[in-house]
Amino acid sequence: MKIGVLAVQGNFREHAAMLRRLGAEAVEVRLPEELEGLDGLVIPGGESTAIARLMRLYGLEEALRRFVGPVFGTCAGMILLDRNHLDLVDIEVDRNAYGRQVASFEADLELDGDPEPLRGVFIRAPRVRETGPGVDVLAELDGEPVLLRQGRFIVASFHPELTDDTRVHERFLELVREETNVGA
Ligand code: GLN
Repeated sequence: MKIGVLAVQGNFREHAAMLRRLGAEAVEVRLPEELEGLDGLVIPGGESTAIARLMRLYGLEEALRRFVGPVFGTCAGMILLDRNHLDLVDIEVDRNAYGRQVASFEADLELDGDPEPLRGVFIRAPRVRETGPGVDVLAELDGEPVLLRQGRFIVASFHPELTDDTRVHERFLELVREETNVGA
């Protein structure tokens, strides 16, 4: 499986390392043509304003809209996929919405269908305020969705690439595997 990691700014190295650990081939994507031949794409956390600006500059915005494979967005990556940015996932997101005191924190999350808690690392995280009908919630924090799926998209408001727990990336790779078989 060949997975691209958008590498214009942010935590792309950590994502690539985790994907490699799970046996996938991870390639850094900075140019539109580098999306060709990929089975999936990760949009990492970082600074969404910076990533958005660079994406526009490199012509990646259009290329991303044309990309048909599974996409996994974390934190800033989730913001970029929302209604107010690329509009590929039907969610309304508030940036930096946990306030100054608790801007960054860790919390145990309950992962859908898994009794083992998942440690969520939240860094100036966005909050999901609204979800459309096609969106499934895979994990919540205090009753608010923090991991969601809509079709071929998975988005997380936290950073699964910053812990040793590979389960969220594994779920993404499962989705890629399913989609690849369907397309074949
Ligand atoms: N606060 C960042 C933003 O709004 C997101 C933080 C992150 O990706 N860790 O872009």
